[in-house]
Amino acid sequence: MTRNCNYSCRHCADNCGPRQYDKTTTPENSEKILLNLPRTTTRLSLSGGEPLTVPNTLRHILSYISQYRDAILSKNANLCVHTNGALLNSLDRAYKFLREMHEYGVTQISLDSYDSFHEEQAERRGISTLERDWDFDGALKKLSQELSVKKPFKKIEKRGCNKPLPFGRAKKLPKNQLRSRSTCYALSDYFKSGRKINPSIDYDGQVYFCCFMTMALGSATETPVDELLEKFEEGPVGSVLLKEGFAGLAKKFNPDASPSKKRRFVENPCVTCEELTEKIRNEAGSPI
Ligand code: SF4
Ligand code: SF4
Repeated sequence: MTRNCNYSCRHCADNCGPRQYDKTTTPENSEKILLNLPRTTTRLSLSGGEPLTVPNTLRHILSYISQYRDAILSKNANLCVHTNGALLNSLDRAYKFLREMHEYGVTQISLDSYDSFHEEQAERRGISTLERDWDFDGALKKLSQELSVKKPFKKIEKRGCNKPLPFGRAKKLPKNQLRSRSTCYALSDYFKSGRKINPSIDYDGQVYFCCFMTMALGSATETPVDELLEKFEEGPVGSVLLKEGFAGLAKKFNPDASPSKKRRFVENPCVTCEELTEKIRNEAGSPI
């Protein structure tokens, strides 16, 4: 939705932070993107940056989804809003937020601030995460009682990332604070979900195979996402990647790489994926 954020965490993969309102989706673009989503969408996650710093954009998107839900999402789809929770640090604020999200048909809230980097930011702003947690849990209980339902949301997630990958600002972190080995999340998701790509869409509509990849597949404001994914699956990068993984792609596009460099593609695909896609982009133009 946006790169604007009230925090500026040292590990932020997207370089989000204050005064980035210009990197927020517009009402017109968000409607085009929503209407171009695959009809089979079973999960839609709205995230940032911090969605609560652009409340009118968040309301516009949610209200548009409520109005055209059957045309945008499949039946029983999960609609999730991600937040760092910093603006929910009073019982009243947390309650109003949860009630509004429930009214819009949001089914999942993800509080993404359970790690040392977010703690550092909260402390800097004088927020006690313990008190914020009490307020959040208290507000959830209040809403449950008011609606007489055990769970107003299908799921409440409390997540964090103590060992980030070296993307965005995290590139500047000392090595011992970074994740040293990783798997390709996008590929394992693809195989787990029965060969279904779960793309990321940026605030400006650019569609990516995963939220870290720097090579866009095209714009969801202009082309149906299904069409972009199909092109990618059949194209020179996707056809190798989805069958042979990053090791296969590395071999194809970099056959002369030293054995240690090839091993890096297998052992730490996210770290070298950026290098590889950059090389492919330079050599072949946009290869979808
Ligand atoms: S990691 Fe999350 S909370 Fe921190 S700056 Fe990035 S978007 Fe904001
Ligand atoms: S290896 Fe590449 S595609 Fe896979 S999760 Fe990492 S950045 Fe994304």
